[in-house]
Amino acid sequence: AAQGILRRQALRESAARTYARALPIVPVRARGMTVEGADGRRYLDCLSGAGALALGHNHPVVLDAIRAVLDAEAPLQVLDLATPVKDAFTDELFATLPSGLAARARVRFCGPAGTDAVEAALKLVRTATGRDGLLAFSGAYHGMTAGALAASGGAPSSGVTRLPYPYDYRCPFGVGGEHGAELSARWTEKLLDDPKGGVTDPAGMILEPVQGEGGVIPAPDGWLRRMRDITAARSIPLIADEVQTGVGRTGALWAVDHSGVVPDVMVLSKAIGGGLPLAAVVYREDLDVWPPGAHAGTFRGNQLAMAAGAATLAYVRENNLAERAATVGARMLDRLRQFATGRAWIGDVRGRGLMIGLELVAPDAGSGASGVNPGEGARRVGPHGESAGAQGDGLGAELGGGAWYAGATRTGAPPADPALAAAVQQECLRRGLIVELGGRHSAVIRLLPPLTITDEQTEAVLDRLTDALDAAVR
Ligand code: PMP
Repeated sequence: AAQGILRRQALRESAARTYARALPIVPVRARGMTVEGADGRRYLDCLSGAGALALGHNHPVVLDAIRAVLDAEAPLQVLDLATPVKDAFTDELFATLPSGLAARARVRFCGPAGTDAVEAALKLVRTATGRDGLLAFSGAYHGMTAGALAASGGAPSSGVTRLPYPYDYRCPFGVGGEHGAELSARWTEKLLDDPKGGVTDPAGMILEPVQGEGGVIPAPDGWLRRMRDITAARSIPLIADEVQTGVGRTGALWAVDHSGVVPDVMVLSKAIGGGLPLAAVVYREDLDVWPPGAHAGTFRGNQLAMAAGAATLAYVRENNLAERAATVGARMLDRLRQFATGRAWIGDVRGRGLMIGLELVAPDAGSGASGVNPGEGARRVGPHGESAGAQGDGLGAELGGGAWYAGATRTGAPPADPALAAAVQQECLRRGLIVELGGRHSAVIRLLPPLTITDEQTEAVLDRLTDALDAAVR
């Protein structure tokens, strides 16, 4: 039966299918971290619905919350009307927000997905500032609709100024460490203040505190504070995209909490719906310039998702699951770093909380070799946002050569190895472990286990993963 379903869907669904290609599983039952396929095979799930399942699959508190709404025969589709379910969800959400924002926040529920909330955030800051440009980062991922896609890394987009994200392992300035992050901040500062900088009236800056799809890259807290200062000093709203990092994932309720940074706008989705589609944008009260009806839509108050989300937020908070994510994540990083010692093809092990990435590389291909790092990797960005050529205006001299490279490597970092990463993913699957790939070159093994992962499951994940890594390289 499983094979038939896989065959039929492969023929009927768009070639744009992504997860379904690498993971030929037909899930029929799931509880916690365990997913059972139609063929009876069981897997430990480190994908968690792309991070949407903070409590894993079908957690009892989530199921109870959903059942309560169904049993009450509460209306499920209510547009954006006020309901007791929404009231309870909003209470929970505001109770978890960074206090500097919660005290004076507004929420607008959005269309169901993260990308919808990103669109709302971009539209909001444009309306509020009357400006149009956008500051966004190399390697960013914000979604697949037009505005969110333009803000994501990759090809240049008109109106978007691409700034260097502090990707330590492949530092855009080739140095890495604190100095690399500081150069990224100084670049941003100088570009904004340079009259010839080519930055026209930014309406906002959007960033991920930890890049997820971009390869699990945590931004240093100090760098985030620098971005907060830089934007505040220039009255540029700062948008934190916490779609993937939110709800305890990184070891704090929100990833910005680590640094104490209070963004002007937060973009939320994934785990806030307890596994059901829900998205919201939360922002400073004084940015609430939208007149009634300015941001409307049919599906922006999914009652089941709000009930599931409220139960999830409450459970994470009451059981200190953010702390648990920090502890378990640190243990996993530790063990994976030990394992990586002497295995030169594991270029970097990094992460924060239960957002963990292993960047696989081809050490024998030589440092900085091209070929597998095409596209943005080869693009050189000058101080005026053009894609080639150093400038002699002083910015370059101070920051080293007048350009940064989205695909630069710290001295000695070999090129990415996407083929090896794909092989590891398949070896994991064979061992009953679901992992995801990510990164600029799809060479990063990503782990996003539920925050409820047990110690026993943690060990099993590490055993299966390290086994799979060695099997793939053989
Ligand atoms: N922002 C970030 C940081 C994300 O990780 C994602 C999804 N991976 C999105 C936005 C888009 O969310 P969605 O896929 O629900 O549209």
